[in-house]
Amino acid sequence: MIKIHVNQIDRNGLRIIGRGSPSDFSLPNEKSFSFVGDISYSIFANLVSGGVIVESNIEADLECVCGRCLAVFRLPVRIPESFHFFENPSSDEIDLTAPLREDILMALPQNFICAEDCKGLCTSCGANLNAEECNCRSEETGSEAWRKLDGLLLDEKTRSKTAARGKKGQNKES
Ligand SMILES: [Zn+2]
Ligand SMILES: [Zn+2]
Repeated sequence: MIKIHVNQIDRNGLRIIGRGSPSDFSLPNEKSFSFVGDISYSIFANLVSGGVIVESNIEADLECVCGRCLAVFRLPVRIPESFHFFENPSSDEIDLTAPLREDILMALPQNFICAEDCKGLCTSCGANLNAEECNCRSEETGSEAWRKLDGLLLDEKTRSKTAARGKKGQNKES
């Protein structure tokens, strides 16, 4: 638990610098990511009219599995200057665990991708296309289907063109 005591905040504010394990923040470990090492935080609490304002800076490191190529990679998560306001706290103790956990979870990307241009795995043979090229693409039945579809579209275009030409011709005749 990350706590601050309101009666410890003086005119100059209260700064707390520390580290906590992922379980201190009740952070989950998922299939696609887990937190590596401690999470470090720097908190600055200030008394303002109507309550307490808390500014936090958080640094964490994730180990993630790329959603495209399944490679495991490290992802640093930096959350500078997040603000939380506690309106007239009823007790001296403010528990920051939940707000900070929320900050961390909100900062995580929706998809973990090792690199913007990650080519992923071949859906046919499973080859990692970042490391090697496979021969599936040219033989793939999928691209065969596309070629057929292209042919159909082309047919349609030529058909409508001839139809239009036919009409024009009719107009000229009349
Ligand atoms: Zn990848
Ligand atoms: Zn392949």
